[in-house]
Amino acid sequence: MLQTGCAIIAFPAHARHPSMDKPDYQAILEQIHRDIAPWRTAGRVADYIPELAKVPAERFGMAIVALDGTVYAVGDARERFSIQSISKLFACTLAFQLLGDALWDRVGREPSGNAFNSLVQLETERGKPRNPFINAGALVVTDVLCRRFVGAETALVQFVRRLTGAADLDYDLRVASSELQHAARNRAMAHFMASFGNLQMPPETVIEAYCRQCAIEMNCVELATAALFLANGGVAPVSGEHILDASSAKRLSALMLTCGTYDAAGDFVYRVGLPAKSGVGGGILAVLPGEMAVCVWSPGLDANGNSLAGVKSLEWLTTRTGQSIF
Ligand code: GLU
Repeated sequence: MLQTGCAIIAFPAHARHPSMDKPDYQAILEQIHRDIAPWRTAGRVADYIPELAKVPAERFGMAIVALDGTVYAVGDARERFSIQSISKLFACTLAFQLLGDALWDRVGREPSGNAFNSLVQLETERGKPRNPFINAGALVVTDVLCRRFVGAETALVQFVRRLTGAADLDYDLRVASSELQHAARNRAMAHFMASFGNLQMPPETVIEAYCRQCAIEMNCVELATAALFLANGGVAPVSGEHILDASSAKRLSALMLTCGTYDAAGDFVYRVGLPAKSGVGGGILAVLPGEMAVCVWSPGLDANGNSLAGVKSLEWLTTRTGQSIF
């Protein structure tokens, strides 16, 4: 006969109780800030968007915001930068709020195994992008927002203002128009998907909104604060707003884990062990459910388009604190 009921396994005294041994985040961040110096200039600043190439490569900031609101920060953690693809996380959240699971009829949930701006799979997969965090998927997500809001980028700016409480957040017009002038590839993708019927708005409307959303400027403290709803079962601690139900917050975090760091998501998870979303502005935003959100910024990128010093710093953070989702 099957035994049912609850039993307590007596763990040995050396078993770790996560809530009882909180790491000294500030000391660990300061140590990372010191150790990362040689890596800060090892990457390459994105230059396919000319405005981004102007950002000094040696900038470095990192911030942890714990669920209780405590902020731990080092370096340029309060200097705003172009969030670029990190905006895809917030855009996807809004689209998921609007459509729920119907969103997945138009965009998949699998890692692409291709570069973030690749077109190749779209042909064989009939205009349905692999996931919402590659450019093609993000364009579909922006299309959803363009259909619902007169200004999709304004809806997104208002959303991140609510998440952070920072009323002056906005997108940088110069960065947006710089990208608009160099968006041939994203335009090609939008038109291609439109040819399969997977864009409902005119491709140029979607491209304009997309370039503006990517040009939103935020700093590490603001980004970590904005992502806290994912660490908090879908509720934003700043406003108390129910952004997503707990199950949807889990699903979005799972997508970040498998698809959030371009074609290097496997290596990133192996090294860092946190769901994350990166952007070519050099930011990486990661979440530790039940505990905190962390954002690092260093504009020099590795070959996959992730911040080189950013990945290293997050790897050190989870290794030195012993905290990750695993
Ligand atoms: N606006 C950029 C693009 O579409 C975002 C890329 C990124 O950050 O991954 O190319």
